Amino acid sequence: MTEAVRLDQVYKAFVPSGRAAEPLLALEDVTLAAHPGEFIGLIGPSGCGKSTVLNLLAGLIRPSAGQVYHLGKPVRGINDRIGYITQDDNLLPWRSMRANVEFGLELRGVGKRERRERARELIELVGLSGFENHYPHELSGGMRKRASIVRTLVYDSPVVLMDEPFGPLDAQTRVILQDELLKLWDLRRPAVLFVTHDLVEAIALSDRILTFTGRPGRIKREHVVDLPRPRDVYRIHELDRFKELYDALWTDIREEIAAANEGVSS
Ligand code: ADP
Ligand code: MG
Repeated sequence: MTEAVRLDQVYKAFVPSGRAAEPLLALEDVTLAAHPGEFIGLIGPSGCGKSTVLNLLAGLIRPSAGQVYHLGKPVRGINDRIGYITQDDNLLPWRSMRANVEFGLELRGVGKRERRERARELIELVGLSGFENHYPHELSGGMRKRASIVRTLVYDSPVVLMDEPFGPLDAQTRVILQDELLKLWDLRRPAVLFVTHDLVEAIALSDRILTFTGRPGRIKREHVVDLPRPRDVYRIHELDRFKELYDALWTDIREEIAAANEGVSS
């Protein structure tokens, strides 16, 4: 079975423009893989290279050493076959919600009738029916986020990258969107790499969670989230196994915070 994505012993250094400036090592010897249909959470201190991992897979940047694969093939240049949902919703302000959702299909040359049909199913699933002709400024933050997620999932990429997609939303909206995301994901089960700083969210969504060390980012530990699906995101925190996983993740994060503070004081 072809892996959905793989990073093999990846290093990434950013070289600042100033002549005397030292290169900054963002990722150090990162190896990770996702199988088709697997939902993987990525957690770690700010600046540990989580977004860098996603940018490498999207082909926006190249590794300094090591290999990056998407569906078994090395990533070369911009990888527009991978779905990428960033923290900003990036909706086009001059297009209606429906036209935004259909945008990617339009670029891929999908005919109008099929576009409409595929968009309709997902728009309905996230409760946006009736808002098709609204422009982004006429939608709430949660609605815009739904539209941007649906816009990426509608083209059925086998791999989807999500970078703190629910970051700016309030706590209630986040949980509702987590529930909707799991339902959308369940339709076609793409492999997902999901970056979040929210431990509860990572457990609720993921099959596996990888924690990162502080910079340079290395994989610290793998946590298998062996909770049955479908999951009830509203009550998942009541499970004993949830509490164990939460403690284990929090231990990883606490160690990294302590290590960072040591670095500052010495
Ligand atoms: P995270 O998403 O985990 O917060 P990032 O992947 O955004 O971390 O960044 C990791 C490190 O690499 C940070 O120190 C960041 O400043 C640096 N970095 C990221 N992208 C660039 C870039 N394009 N140029 C220079 N430095 C960068
Ligand atoms: Mg980031």
